[in-house]
Amino acid sequence: MRPGEFDLIARYFAPLAAGFPGAAGLKDDLAVVRPSSGCELATTVDAMVEGVHFLSDDPPDTIARKVLRANLSDLAAAGARPLCYFLSMSLNNSVDEVWVSQFAAGLADDQKEFGISLAGGDTTSTPGPVTLSVTAMGEVEQGRAVRRSGAGTNDDVWVTGTIGDAANALHLIENYGVRKVSEEYPFLLDRYRLPVPRSALGPRLVGLVSAMTDISDGLVADLGHICAASGTGAELSFYDIPLSDDVREFLGKEEKGVESCAIRILSGGDDYELLFTAPTASAPLIEKAARLSAVRVARIGNIVSGDGVRVVSADGAEIEVAAGGWRHF
Ligand code: ADP
Ligand code: MG
Repeated sequence: MRPGEFDLIARYFAPLAAGFPGAAGLKDDLAVVRPSSGCELATTVDAMVEGVHFLSDDPPDTIARKVLRANLSDLAAAGARPLCYFLSMSLNNSVDEVWVSQFAAGLADDQKEFGISLAGGDTTSTPGPVTLSVTAMGEVEQGRAVRRSGAGTNDDVWVTGTIGDAANALHLIENYGVRKVSEEYPFLLDRYRLPVPRSALGPRLVGLVSAMTDISDGLVADLGHICAASGTGAELSFYDIPLSDDVREFLGKEEKGVESCAIRILSGGDDYELLFTAPTASAPLIEKAARLSAVRVARIGNIVSGDGVRVVSADGAEIEVAAGGWRHF
């Protein structure tokens, strides 16, 4: 038996709201949120469902951090600085107090790491799978939020970090089991279990980039979203896409080279890297922002007129991306 809703809130969630005066210690019906003067709120929501986005025996602290980080990644992609978040939980009878305390501990860790505070939420019970939803608010100078729609012809296409780590980790887990992956490719397993939102870099790119999104559906699919919103096409150079040493190593060892698994690099989701476009003149300042944020950036292609995303290999031949990224339905 777990304690009632109000005890849970007072014990585990009110402390997470202590740093946010507008939350009134979670003792009110709502929170009052005021952005810094001259700023507006960028707001996003992400939900996770047991059996779909996580498994019932996944560590609760990791589940918590993942759902919060998915939101932080969206804020970063708009160039917004994290401010506060709201948490809606539908819990079933398999959730006990230990689960809730570990879940809250995961949130506490990430609140510290990313400078965000809980501001409110809702708690209900359900006969179905555990369902979690986080709504996050960030602030950005008025009119400066980066959208998907601003890409212009001839802009460069950039990504942060390395691409395909999460999808290759999942592939390895499915084929060899978690244990072998944790022993031989711990970096990849980490990348899959706990993505790192680029919260420091996103806000530094405001004014330098023309369009931005995070990569959650897959590189080609998410670039396709930018292109569709901007009324442009894009051409990606496959061999310029940054891969981690782990992915290179295992592709060289266990696959017939990189191109045989191009699909996991181009269509695999869940990397939570930033994908953005910018005029070439912005390049030096983008590199500097990346250095200040200790994040790797790479130019991987160009925005072109027309529509759709073309991926070309070293010899200029087109690589087909049939699957087109992850879709729920
Ligand atoms: P209401 O009756 O208006 O729905 P609740 O009784 O659900 O309000 O919530 C009381 C307070 O506790 C509110 O401030 C709400 O934001 C907060 N709260 C409820 N559930 C959570 C949660 N899971 N995380 C954070 N805050 C919560
Ligand atoms: Mg309620």
